[in-house]
Amino acid sequence: SMGLGAAGLQLYSGSKAACEAEPTPPDALLALSPEEPPARRKTRVVVLGTGWGAVSFLKSLDPKTYGPDGRYELVVVSPRSYFLYTPLLPSAAAGSVQERSIMEPVRNLLRGGQGTYFQAEATAIDPNRRVLTCAVDQCAVCKTVAREEGKCGGKGQAACGAARDTFELPYDVLIVGVGSVNNTFGIKGVEDHCHFLKSIDDAHRLRLRISRVIEHAGLPHLTPEERRRHLNFVVVGGGPTGVELAAELHDFVQEDVARLMPHLKDDVSISVVDTMDHLLGAFDRQLSEYTQSHFARSGIDVQLSTMVKSVSDGVLTVSRGGKEETLPFGTCVWATGIAMHPLVRGLKGTLQQQLAEVQNARTGLVVDGHLRVKGTQGTIFCLGDAAVTHQERTLEAAPQLFAAADLDRDQRLSADEVVRMLKKNKKTYPQLAELATLLEEGALEKAAKGMWGASSKPGRYEKHIERLQRGLSFEEFRELLADMDTLMRSLPPTAQVASQEGKYLAQLFSDNHIAPYPGAAAAPGREISMGVWVPLPEGAPVFQYSHMGSFAYVGVDQAILDLPSTFPFKALKGWLVGQAWRSFETWRQVSARNRWMVQSDWIRTKLFGRNISEA
Ligand code: FAD
Repeated sequence: SMGLGAAGLQLYSGSKAACEAEPTPPDALLALSPEEPPARRKTRVVVLGTGWGAVSFLKSLDPKTYGPDGRYELVVVSPRSYFLYTPLLPSAAAGSVQERSIMEPVRNLLRGGQGTYFQAEATAIDPNRRVLTCAVDQCAVCKTVAREEGKCGGKGQAACGAARDTFELPYDVLIVGVGSVNNTFGIKGVEDHCHFLKSIDDAHRLRLRISRVIEHAGLPHLTPEERRRHLNFVVVGGGPTGVELAAELHDFVQEDVARLMPHLKDDVSISVVDTMDHLLGAFDRQLSEYTQSHFARSGIDVQLSTMVKSVSDGVLTVSRGGKEETLPFGTCVWATGIAMHPLVRGLKGTLQQQLAEVQNARTGLVVDGHLRVKGTQGTIFCLGDAAVTHQERTLEAAPQLFAAADLDRDQRLSADEVVRMLKKNKKTYPQLAELATLLEEGALEKAAKGMWGASSKPGRYEKHIERLQRGLSFEEFRELLADMDTLMRSLPPTAQVASQEGKYLAQLFSDNHIAPYPGAAAAPGREISMGVWVPLPEGAPVFQYSHMGSFAYVGVDQAILDLPSTFPFKALKGWLVGQAWRSFETWRQVSARNRWMVQSDWIRTKLFGRNISEA
């Protein structure tokens, strides 16, 4: 038998060296591979990650499918044993909410313990053999150095010199949801001198740092200059993360430092540095201008058109208007964007050797309309920050729309007919419904702007308008949809996208639409030849993102809300929006437990203030 029992789950133990690590009991891992005849074996679905995409998948997957009588054997692999609600990381760093309030143990999400969770990191994917290599963090169980904060762990390196335990895990279908890593753009000194804000450890370290510099600045031997230098916070990156962090820091200073250490309040400075000429590039321009003037009123300094060249101890070297300048800082937080995860880069490299032309995106794994990684025969799915949606998505929809509308390909379509057809398929393609509404209003120009963003060239859409006026051929209709796809291809790396993708995949798996490589379950571990296209069963829906709008907290209880172009109001701002933002961030927590904790944190902060100490 070539079943998983035979292919097995191999456990290799690294040398323990000085580390007194307790090995993972091999039985627990091997029990995963029942010696069953291949035909009766369940399909092993391995999920990588416990972030927005993966957890949304786990929450929405029908538990019956991986229960005792289910058709899947579900295994989750992630170094992080909890889901992290990233949108509240800036609030956690400033102490407005507690760290544990935005973390949800992943075991709570595997209904009744029916799925398996391994706390390990996938280090390599072999798509031909369909085998993962996973590494276990020895530091987690090392009794000798684990307590020495900062020494152990780090960049996956055990300070005690222990090699990492690794094991191999075969899969039938893999779902990659490993997210992304911080982007330093290779700028010198960033890693060594800046804080990041991506993990709960980052938020924790930053909160300790803030507490320490404030206490330090109060020491009697400092000159006023030194004091101001300590209390100088610089955030690099004027996107939502940078803006929200600056806003939370501002509130912390105004509400808590002012109350407990009033003599320090005026020495604190907060700045946001960005290369663009305005903040919040992805938001409506009106909202970014509002944020800038709101920041100016709050005393947050905004340095635009400023590019960081290098970072050294306490100094940023920047270039502005062609000139080089230096900006001193006490604490610098780097929040400029994301880069490809090393595991994704590795898989991409393997795929590119065989399929360079389909895996051609710079930022992640190219997936098709069903989130299947191109070139892996439906054995690997990818979602969230790690995925790049593929151009064929809506092109695929064109023939289906035609067929569903019972139309002839030689027929020309009037604008009214296009609208009718798009509306008829509203359920299957919600994104098209938005286009239909705008077409109905005769507002393609507005549609183009709203849907493709400010960067789109207006001239490009004139041809569509002209064609709609005289009637579209099938090919022209295809082109219209393909142009719409430019938007979909560049889906932003957000929690909103990742969670919709997770929900969509869960539906695909719950309804048994996954159709992996024929014979996948019958011959696990056997080499597959990549690149062959495996069609999904008739009726399998295509993923469609529907944008619900974006919030950002800007401080002093105010927030901004950027809505999709189909809403009557596109840009909302102010105190009421601030209240809506709080309710939204509370309601969107993954469990009732976290909802309750976040809500009580906010009430506690309002009534008693934030904790200014390291406790
Ligand atoms: P993640 O949520 O990052 O999850 C990745 C998972 O993979 C983690 O569990 C990680 O431990 C695991 N993993 C990593 N490496 C491996 C490996 N080798 N093997 C196995 N598992 C691995 N988006 C919004 O829509 N709205 C917001 O308000 C918002 N605010 C944000 C604020 C901050 C501070 C940050 C950092 C991000 C914010 N985002 C927001 C973006 C959002 O968090 C990401 O787009 C989203 O997390 C992407 O989801 P994901 O599932 O792809 O990855």
